[in-house]
Amino acid sequence: MDKKIILCVDDEPIILNSLKQELSQYFSDSMIIEVAESGEEGLETIDFFREKGKEVVVIISDYIMPQMRGDEFLIEAHRLLPNCMKILLTGQASLEGVTNAVNQTNLYRYISKPWSTKDLLMTVETAIANYEKDKTLKSQNKQIQASIRYAERIQNAVLPSPNYLSELFPNHFVFHIPKDIVSGDFYWCREENNKIIIAVADCTGHGVPGAFMSLIGHQLLNRAVIDKKIYSPEKILDNINQAIRDVWNGERARFHEGMEMAICVIDKEENKISFAGARRPICVVQNNTKFNHVKGDRLGTDGKEDAVYTKHEFEIEPNTQIYLYSDGYQDQFGGKDDRRFMSKNLRALIRKMSENTMKEQLEQVETTFNDWKGSHVQIDDVLVVGVKV
Ligand SMILES: [Mg+2]
Repeated sequence: MDKKIILCVDDEPIILNSLKQELSQYFSDSMIIEVAESGEEGLETIDFFREKGKEVVVIISDYIMPQMRGDEFLIEAHRLLPNCMKILLTGQASLEGVTNAVNQTNLYRYISKPWSTKDLLMTVETAIANYEKDKTLKSQNKQIQASIRYAERIQNAVLPSPNYLSELFPNHFVFHIPKDIVSGDFYWCREENNKIIIAVADCTGHGVPGAFMSLIGHQLLNRAVIDKKIYSPEKILDNINQAIRDVWNGERARFHEGMEMAICVIDKEENKISFAGARRPICVVQNNTKFNHVKGDRLGTDGKEDAVYTKHEFEIEPNTQIYLYSDGYQDQFGGKDDRRFMSKNLRALIRKMSENTMKEQLEQVETTFNDWKGSHVQIDDVLVVGVKV
């Protein structure tokens, strides 16, 4: 086994000797006990082992030493080895020194001189165990992150490509900020039978479960529109609702995961837009003046038996813009009173910005969100889509 290092630093050789003796008796099978007689020598020792690729797991340092004090040494050591466990030996340590070390080096413990062997061994043993646990956690975390990053690529591949979107809507913007890399919010669009169908959906949950659900939602939209040739938004929702019931049928879950969805069918031949919403609204701005907001039905698509969705229709007028969005934007906490952004403010923003270009609108949506959120954490996936018909 490749042994790891415990480093002891003290200016008194007698103390170093007894530290080394006590620790060797207990840890010599798995650890090399190294000693240094000053902070400077301690730092050199750390450098030496880092170059050799060896791990210094625990540093035990005296506090009172000529030239470099124990807390000063540990602060430097912490910079080089942030994960290493640091223990301060305090004969007559000033409180300030200990506080300094605790604050700046993530000090694991301090032991007062004279120490009891049992106490020392126990402290070092738990320090080593903590070091290993941290290391495992960090490596697991890294693996999970890498796996989610890969999933993100898959999710992005499933979303409509920017080229396809631009082909259908030369003027559009998409503001999509997943909370946890992958997203339960997604958008979908397709040209079929001379109609353009666009959907924005928010699946229950976010992160990995939300993203899984979004792939189901994507497939169900494909099936309803491309395979079954359903071109009426309320019927697409109904079809998806039934399909989700089938998804959960084999699963005796007490609650069904589903999604909220806004669907819009743009029919330029008939000169009309039809819309249906499962808990998701639409905003339509026409002629830069007329502002329409339709809430959508208070029904998700989660397999409920008796869901009937309502179809709403609008004429396409010159300069018609439509906006579809999930609830993440309006639910974000922030502002000076730490409250939700609220849907009415999002509608006001849409109304205000709709006379600008789509590029400018994206900037406004983004800036407003970031200004509102400030240093608050993002609580949900965020998706706002605006298109000029
Ligand atoms: Mg949401």
